[in-house]
Amino acid sequence: MKPKMLPVTRRQTFMGRLEHGADLLEALNKFCIDEHISLGRVEAIGAVKKAALGYYDQDEKCYRYFEIDRHLEILNLVGNISLKDGKPFVHAHVTLADEAGRAFGGHLIPGTPIFACEAIIQAFDGPQLHRKTEPITGLPLWS
Ligand code: ZN
Repeated sequence: MKPKMLPVTRRQTFMGRLEHGADLLEALNKFCIDEHISLGRVEAIGAVKKAALGYYDQDEKCYRYFEIDRHLEILNLVGNISLKDGKPFVHAHVTLADEAGRAFGGHLIPGTPIFACEAIIQAFDGPQLHRKTEPITGLPLWS
């Protein structure tokens, strides 16, 4: 079956630094809500004071959450922006590294305070994507 991919065009790109001490995911969500960005992509690099991440258990169909209570580099944050429950919603995954370069990663959740973060957010124009719970995976996927 052909994947259902929708055409989008780049409307505007924002580039800047997120506030020290703010929650990484909440800062990204707040920016999108404030700027009315309901379709787009996110990327960022920087460092966090500690991290809270999720791993989706495909058998149990639920997230397993874990914390990494140490200073970490953000090697890569990549995510997308769509609507969930009628509000702009950032879905982001991160790869983080410790002082020896060991990498950790997962689905970003609140509980990850920023030490420093440089973010790029691209707003798209196109058909609006909405997240709805999908029965096969149990995940809130694009419907
Ligand atoms: Zn995820």
